[in-house]
Amino acid sequence: MTPLDETHDPTRKSWVESANDAATDFPIQNLPFGVFRRADSDESFRVGVAIGDQIVDVVACSEAGLLSGDDALAADRCRHPGLNALMEAGPEAARRLRRALSDLLRVGSSVFERDPAIASHILVPMKDAELTLPAAIGDYTDFYASIQHATNVGSMFRPDNPLLPNYKWVPIGYHGRASSIVASGSGIRRPLGQTRDGTDGPPSFGPSRRLDYELEMGVFIGSGNALGSPIPIDEAERHVFGLCLLNDWSARDIQTWEYQPLGPFLAKNFATTLSPWVVTVDALAPYRAPAYRRPTGDPAPLPYLYSHDDTNSGGFDISLELDLSSAAMRDGGMKPLRVSTGSFTEIYWTVAQLVTHHASNGCNLRAGDLLGSGTVSGAAKESRGSLLERTWRGTEPLQLPTGETRAFLEDGDEVTIRGYCARGEDGRPRIGFGECRGRVLPALPAHASAV
Ligand code: CA
Repeated sequence: MTPLDETHDPTRKSWVESANDAATDFPIQNLPFGVFRRADSDESFRVGVAIGDQIVDVVACSEAGLLSGDDALAADRCRHPGLNALMEAGPEAARRLRRALSDLLRVGSSVFERDPAIASHILVPMKDAELTLPAAIGDYTDFYASIQHATNVGSMFRPDNPLLPNYKWVPIGYHGRASSIVASGSGIRRPLGQTRDGTDGPPSFGPSRRLDYELEMGVFIGSGNALGSPIPIDEAERHVFGLCLLNDWSARDIQTWEYQPLGPFLAKNFATTLSPWVVTVDALAPYRAPAYRRPTGDPAPLPYLYSHDDTNSGGFDISLELDLSSAAMRDGGMKPLRVSTGSFTEIYWTVAQLVTHHASNGCNLRAGDLLGSGTVSGAAKESRGSLLERTWRGTEPLQLPTGETRAFLEDGDEVTIRGYCARGEDGRPRIGFGECRGRVLPALPAHASAV
């Protein structure tokens, strides 16, 4: 667990005025890392840090002589078009950089007071920037860590046996596809695939008619582990760089036909959208929560997945929201419909347990690897994190303000996930994750041949 320090001080303000707005996701207490360049430029992508409505160009800070010693060495790792080099360096490098930038950006910074002109050298307005994926993602694993999601989906497909007997013992996951992970804002092409109506007859091939989203958190691995060397549960968070938002686009009709016996394949690997900013475990320190409280009768985690600290504070108190807008809603100037509100405290397995379990057989995790939490669903209907659950397999369609209905996603629909931590009662500002957004594009013709 990260101890709280001056970077978490709720009274700390920034000379970047927009960072002091109560509604911003990016006050000085956050300082998430991402990868950016000026839009419509031929600049190289490089690491930046969000502050209010601006991006701090870490390399520019270093070149202006504003960082020195080990801070400058950490900043050198930010010249790349991905966070991998900084991730590889372990938690101290990012912690050092976050602390140095907090000191540089705070009201009363001696550097800024001496030379306020540095602002124009080190800040790029977010509105003028292009953000890309935060890291080169080598491997991607998607878990299934929300017991409510597993129970909901199980009860639709196996009413007599909704939760399989392994669920409370082993964090369930599958290896996903890294190549089709895309940055927030990228269009999502409706996939083609094999589906079968009913239980008789042959399948057909064509556009998915049951396209869905899944509201998830993404977990970026920082420093990895050597092949053959498991990660003890009490060291797991040292291997986590930070968290972001993730949408695991899913074609339910393709999934239903293909998933047995080996699990998700083409129903999932056509696209996954990630938010651009990675909020570090350090920044999340004031917003830790106990692990999911297992009901009486549930087994305790096996010893390799159990630790006192993880039970007491292995959770993250992150509020999640999902909005949907149709093309007709946007044409009519209507605001998006809030479809889902949930909490990351609802997941059955902690982030540390996911990491430890993944490496428990000696599997090596590497800097920039991505873990998905699995769809985050709570007990309330409004907290279900997929349309499959929200509309109960299409039997309870959503009513849109245009009079349209939605059982699953239509072309032109836009899905936006947001997340934030807020503990106003102790005076802490909200820290947020920005947004994870994607719009559905029509399928390509099913029988198009290469030209
Ligand atoms: Ca998923």
